[in-house]
Amino acid sequence: MTVELTESQRDLWDRARAFGEEHIEPVAMEYVESGEWPWEVYRKAAEAGLIGLPFEEAYGGQNASLVEQCLVAEAFCRADSSVGIALHGAMTGCFVMDSFGSPQQKERWLEPVTRGEITTGIGLTEPDTGSALAELTTTAERVSGPAGEEYVIDGEKDWIANGASGDWVATLCRTDPDVDPEKPYRGLSLIVVPTDSEGYDATPRDRLGLDAAEHARITYDEVRVPAENLLGDEEGQGFYQTLAWLEHGRVDIAAAHLGMAEGAFDRALAFSKEREQGGQPIGDYQGMRWKLADMRKNCQVARAQVYHAARTIDAAERESREVDQSLIEQASIAKLFATEMACEVAEEAVQVFGGKGFAREHEVEHFYRDVKAGTIYEGTSEIQRNTIGKVLFDEL
Ligand SMILES: Cc1cc2nc3c(=O)[nH]c(=O)nc-3n(C[C@H](O)[C@H](O)[C@H](O)COP(=O)(O)OP(=O)(O)OC[C@H]3O[C@@H](n4cnc5c(N)ncnc54)[C@H](O)[C@@H]3O)c2cc1C
Repeated sequence: MTVELTESQRDLWDRARAFGEEHIEPVAMEYVESGEWPWEVYRKAAEAGLIGLPFEEAYGGQNASLVEQCLVAEAFCRADSSVGIALHGAMTGCFVMDSFGSPQQKERWLEPVTRGEITTGIGLTEPDTGSALAELTTTAERVSGPAGEEYVIDGEKDWIANGASGDWVATLCRTDPDVDPEKPYRGLSLIVVPTDSEGYDATPRDRLGLDAAEHARITYDEVRVPAENLLGDEEGQGFYQTLAWLEHGRVDIAAAHLGMAEGAFDRALAFSKEREQGGQPIGDYQGMRWKLADMRKNCQVARAQVYHAARTIDAAERESREVDQSLIEQASIAKLFATEMACEVAEEAVQVFGGKGFAREHEVEHFYRDVKAGTIYEGTSEIQRNTIGKVLFDEL
């Protein structure tokens, strides 16, 4: 580990790495092959105190910093890209809950996550609205009914992690029907929707990779939830709440993809020392060494940026500073660099394995398939470049 860590952070890293080696690596291929969600590994990770770290202690968390959250994401995904992202993604809905939920909401919806009992999601993307998030059309109408004040939700979401197997999805909806075409991000609210609600229907998607995780297309057909499921004190805050999460989420996902790149690199390096061709290990050929050296260099550079961004955001929060352009830029740079780097490194890992790298039985095959999602979710690479460009031209 080349990034400077405090003693407790180093201890956390060691524990998360050891957990990955003992409880993720030996079973990962079973989950990748079966497509099952890794519940048993998740429960063990919760028992080991490695799930829900960033959340308040009162709700089972450890008030962990973004750096600490990143260390766990990196270690889990280094052990396995697919199982790692499933474990990591179990908390997807929790970050907005942790920041904006009421004590009652947190007790009900956050605490069981830290015990490894349930998984969660955040529903932003729709079939027709992804990058231009503010243009979403899912509606939530507030009505008074026999059950008291409720929201009636109609619409569709797509690609939602844990949308089918999870317990609830924090759903971004339009609560104000009057859309300002200049400012479509106004009038949006996050509402917690339990996945067993009547009218909620989720179908897991067939995907390129991340076989052990689950991503669903969801239909909301007059789904009724109590008005108290709104996140925050008032309607219309959903877009801003989402942005506040995205900045953390981007660094966190960068750390996860850094881990995937390191995992692919570890396997390629080990293979290069074992596989012999022409009477010598392939790692003794300069052509292979340069490849491995570049993979190593790319991982190290990404690590420096990921933890620089995480530390900068942690420091700003400790000092109660407003999120400013430089923090947003750092998060985008970390996400853009680490996810694109992971794609390159995983591709090179397959190359080091030769034909074996193309076979399902070798782990680098699914690392290669899994890394690609990183350049798409939580803002595509193009959107990260747009964000960095806006900062450069003072347009954010
Ligand atoms: C594995 C996976 C997991 C996901 N998990 C979740 C989840 O849990 N919750 C959730 O809400 N969503 C999730 N998503 C959805 C993801 O966030 C979106 O796919 C992503 O934001 C892109 O939206 P889109 O697919 O509609 O593509 P589009 O927005 O239609 O983009 C298509 C292409 O156009 C480019 N493009 C679009 N706008 C611009 C622009 N302004 N400038 C330059 N290029 C542009 C994009 O970069 C992309 O290359 C997930 C997606 C995947 C693949």
